[in-house]
This record gives sequence, structure tokens and C-alpha cells, in this order.
Amino acid sequence: MQLKNKTAVITGSTSGIGLGIARELARAGADIVLNSFTDSDDDHALAASVAEEFGVGARYIRADMSKGDECRALIAQAGVCDILVNNAGIQHVAPVDEFPVEKWDAIIAINLTSAFHTIASALPMMRKAGWGRVVNIASAHGLTASPYKSAYIAAKHGIVGLSKTVALETAEEPITCNAICPGYVLTPLVEAQIPDTMKEYGMNREDVIANVMLKRQPSKQFATVEQMGGTTVFLCSSAADQITGTTISVDGGWTAL
Ligand code: NAD
Repeated sequence: MQLKNKTAVITGSTSGIGLGIARELARAGADIVLNSFTDSDDDHALAASVAEEFGVGARYIRADMSKGDECRALIAQAGVCDILVNNAGIQHVAPVDEFPVEKWDAIIAINLTSAFHTIASALPMMRKAGWGRVVNIASAHGLTASPYKSAYIAAKHGIVGLSKTVALETAEEPITCNAICPGYVLTPLVEAQIPDTMKEYGMNREDVIANVMLKRQPSKQFATVEQMGGTTVFLCSSAADQITGTTISVDGGWTAL
């Protein structure tokens, strides 16, 4: 229970990687704040079930990460934020000269600008508490590129740069800021890409997974949400006190190629 008495706010955390991270932080004893923009009974029930499973405090707060004022309101409503995980993210695939501008704007807002707002709001709380951890969920696409994902790749490269800058601005304080760069993880976001990819390549599901997605991942396995959570817990541990301004790839060797 190394994170007992710490409160973690995880954006976009009612599914996929965000929920996996929230669960591992709760397993390590942190109180957690789950977030998404839906505010359904299921969202509140999910927080209650995490609280019951791990014996920690857990709340759900609705905030749309595409809106700066709501990003800031999320942190204000949380009231305390020792650990901030910027995880909310969306994706769209199209050639750059056909990329819908509203999709570009939404991806940059949710995947990048939201982190600027939450970090700006959380840093004063971390300074007051005398301890803080910022973990930004970037991507292997924050370090490499692929065609047709211009907004996503620009946002993910941007969040790597933001992480380094915040690390330098807090370097003399007991606050760290790092980015995790996952490879493919089979979450709802990735599931949603499979049908279009099947159509595009005329392949079945298994072939899309093996020959399109995992083709770039030398381990030939999906990474898991628990591995993203474990990496986050490590970055919040005292072993990581001097780890700041870096990226940790959890990508089965993708970025080693
Ligand atoms: P997901 O679709 O399963 O989960 C995304 C979460 O973000 C959901 O809880 C959703 O409600 C929330 N969200 C979306 N728009 C939001 C908004 N406007 N306001 C608040 N919440 C919002 O996706 P995931 O695969 O778990 O992705 C999580 C993060 O990990 C993203 O930043 C993604 O880019 C990154 N990532 C994922 C993979 C992968 O293979 N799955 C790989 C690299 C990086």
C-alpha cells in the first residue's frame, strides 16, 4: 500500500488503459478519481466497485477533456491531486490532405491541450502537498510515425515535449513528470479500428491483428492495461524519484526497431 494517503486523478478512465491504471493505483493504496464525459450510472457504479474491491476512496467526476474550463474544473473538484495521469485520448485515421479539421481540433484538444490545463491546475496542489507525480500517456506514436494518423501523432509527439518541459520546470521540486509510450493494447479504442482495417486490407480479424497491428510490435503480443498500470505505479514509487522528463516505452520492442 505504498500510495496510501495519495489521491490520483486519471483522465478518461472508465475504460481501457485509464481504468487499468486507476485499478493498479488503487491496488497500491491510492484514492482515485475516475473521469469521462458521460456521467452515467455505470460510471458512478464503476467507481464504487473499485472502492469496494481495493478498500480505497474512489469517485467519478464528469468532465469533457476537449474543453479547457472542464479540464480545470475536474482538478478543482477533485480538491487534491497528488498523482495526475493524463490518459484521455481519441484517434482518427485519414490522409493529411483529407483530414477533417474538426477531427484535428478534437484530437489536439483531448490528447494534448487537456494535459496543459490539468497540469497547470494540479501543480499548485502538488506544491502545497510537497509531492507530486505527473504521468502522461503518450504512445509509440509519440516517438515514431505512421501514415494517416497526423493529428494523433502530432498530439502524442506534443505530449512528450510537454512532459519534458514540465519536468524541467519542476526539476528542483519533489515533483516528477514523465510519459509512458504504449504500443498496441487491445482496448475499445483499438477494437474500434479493427472493422475498418479488415475492410481496407480485405483481411479477417486474426490477420489484421497479426499482420497489420502486431506487425510493428516485435513481441507479437498486445501490451496489457495492467502493464500500463504497473509502470505508472513504478513512476509513483520512491525508486523513480530521480526519473523525470523521460519516456518509458511499453511496446514489445516497437521503438527499438
Ligand atoms: P479507450 O477508448 O478504451 O479509452 C479512452 C477513455 O477516454 C475512455 O474512458 C473515454 O471515455 C475517455 N474519453 C474520450 N474522450 C474524452 C473526453 N472528451 N473527455 C473525457 N474523457 C474522454 O482508449 P485506450 O486505448 O484505453 O486509450 C487510452 C490512452 O492510451 C489514449 O491517450 C491513447 O491514445 C493511449 N494509447 C492507447 C494505445 C492502445 O493501443 N490502446 C496505444 C498507445 C497509446
